[in-house]
Parts: sequence; structure tokens; C-alpha cells
Amino acid sequence: MIIVLDKSATPEQIDLITSKLLEGGYHAHPIYGVEKTVIGAVGVPEEEKPNLVEQFEALPFVERVITILAPYKLVAKAYRPEGTVVRVADKVTIGGQQVCIMAGPCTVETPEQTLSTARAVKEAGAHMLRGGAYKPSTSPYSFQGLGVEGLKILAEARAQTGLPVVTEVMDPRNVELVCRYADMLQIGTRNMQNYDLLREVGKTRHPVLLKRGMWARIDEWLMAAEYIMKGGNENVVLCERGIRTFETATRNTLDLSAVPVVKQESHLPVIVDPSQGTGKWSLVTAMSRAAIAAGADGLIIEVHPHPEQALKDGAQSLTFENFQQLMAEVRAIAQAMGKGV
Ligand code: PEP
Ligand code: MN
Repeated sequence: MIIVLDKSATPEQIDLITSKLLEGGYHAHPIYGVEKTVIGAVGVPEEEKPNLVEQFEALPFVERVITILAPYKLVAKAYRPEGTVVRVADKVTIGGQQVCIMAGPCTVETPEQTLSTARAVKEAGAHMLRGGAYKPSTSPYSFQGLGVEGLKILAEARAQTGLPVVTEVMDPRNVELVCRYADMLQIGTRNMQNYDLLREVGKTRHPVLLKRGMWARIDEWLMAAEYIMKGGNENVVLCERGIRTFETATRNTLDLSAVPVVKQESHLPVIVDPSQGTGKWSLVTAMSRAAIAAGADGLIIEVHPHPEQALKDGAQSLTFENFQQLMAEVRAIAQAMGKGV
């Protein structure tokens, strides 16, 4: 904490501040400049800073107080420097030396569409099945997903293939229901700052895939993860899915620099969604390679048996064949990174 004093501050006033700090058991380091005096306060606990800032700023001879706050605690690297490995359904790990590939349709449309996709992605080597039963839509007139019917189809696909399921939950009232069917809860980009939803998934012990808000800075995204961890749920995986920029050549700008930034700042695993990130199937494989090369712990990829017939996100969905090709290329990059797929 740094206390910047007004030019007119007298030696007595400077003493007043230093003695107040010493009384509290902290250290005070005054620096006497030509223009003004600055006092460095060392050892003030995080929780006492806001109060102390207010008290000092109320003094007429204090210009301002600057705090060096650590905004997140539980998600910070220091909390678990060795890194976190999240386990899903006691089968799959995310973080560590294995790259985790989640794949499946954007949206659950029919049992055949979901089951055939689940079998195809499993055969190609995917570790988890994705698919939306509750779909957030910009337009209230477009398909909103099959709801519980969709969850049942996903559960059937898991029974047939053994692939754990990740699916989106949008409403805090549905968290318990989605937990009954899915192995991992996805929080979509539009809900990254839905604090009631974050608190609700924080009460469960289900793994959570927290997507970055399309308008969110990395620190805001990490604070959203802090909400979930504060509730006691430490099974959080972050997902970079692209942000809004001035660029229109891609649906979003896939911010791959977020991957090493998160790795520096946090112990949580981070995966990448190049499907929402680019909006174009022809760009998905290249950005998947780049994501793994940047250090991502996994990918989430949209795959459809007939992308041209998809009810949602067909333009960014891979055919079964294209997904196989993606897996082959990602394996090679993962190997170069010293990881397995
Ligand atoms: C999705 O995964 O299909 C999806 C809607 O993702 P996002 O929330 O990142 O847009
Ligand atoms: Mn989608």
C-alpha cells in the first residue's frame, strides 16, 4: 500500500501516519521527495486494506492511497503452483500430460445425429462428448435446444460409447437436473458473469467448463472462476472461445495468447474452442494445432454428420472425416509438446 501525501503535509502529519501504521503492527517506509512525500506501508493484510484506505483518504493532507491488490486468491497460481488436474467421471483427466479432446454436435438435434457423432468421434480418439441441450440464442425465434429430451439423448450416447458428457447449463434452477445427466457442466460465454449461476455450480462438485465471456478480460474471467471455487468446487476448467473485436473475417478473434497468460496467472487447466473461435470449419484444424502448441490442455470441437443440415453452427462444424484429420494433426503437435492425446 502506498500513501501519497499532499505537498503541504507537515512533518507532524507524516508522523501521524507512520505511527498509525506502526501501532497496527505494520512497517512504514517514508520517501521524502522534492515535490511530495510518499509512505510505503508493508505487511497490511488484504482484508484490512479497504478499511485503512478509507481512513487515510479521509485525512485532508493525503492525496491518494494506492493498493497493490491480488484480486483473485483461489484461482491464483500461488494457491497450487504444481497445477490442477481435473478428473471427469473418473475416466478423463484435464491438465497434466494428457491433451483432452471433447467433440460432438453444437446442438443435440435427434438421437441418430447425436449417437452417430458420438461413435465417430470416439473412434477418432476423442475423450469426451459435447452437445447442447439448452442453447443460448441471440434470437428468441431460433432453435433453443431439446431441453431434458436432449439430456436423455446425451446420456444414451454416453451409455453406448462410454464417453463422459459435457453440456451447457444456463439456468441456476436447472443445475441439479443437468448434474443428473451430464459429467461436466458448461457455462457459456453469455453467462460468464451470471453470478447466481456461478454460485450454484460452485455448490456442486461436478467439473465445470467455464467459457470466457466474449467481452471479458482475462482477469474478469479468472474472477468468474473464483466465484465457483469460493463455493468449494475446485474442479474448474477454463475455455478460451474467442472475443469480439473489429475483425470480421472470423466469427470471433480466438485469443490464443490467453492460454499462456492463464498458465502464468493460474493453476487451472485451460482448453480452447476453435469452433466458436473462428466460426469456419476450414480454420478449425489450424487453430487446434496452434492451441496445443500454445500449451492448451485440450480442445472442444463441433462435429456433425451433415454440417450443411445442422440446425446450429453448421458452418463451423467438421465432418467425421475432417475430425479424423484434425486428431492426426493434433497428435503430432501434442507429441512435439511432450504430451499424449
Ligand atoms: C457452444 O459451445 O455451442 C456455445 C454456444 O458456446 P459459447 O457459449 O462459447 O458461444
Ligand atoms: Mn455452437
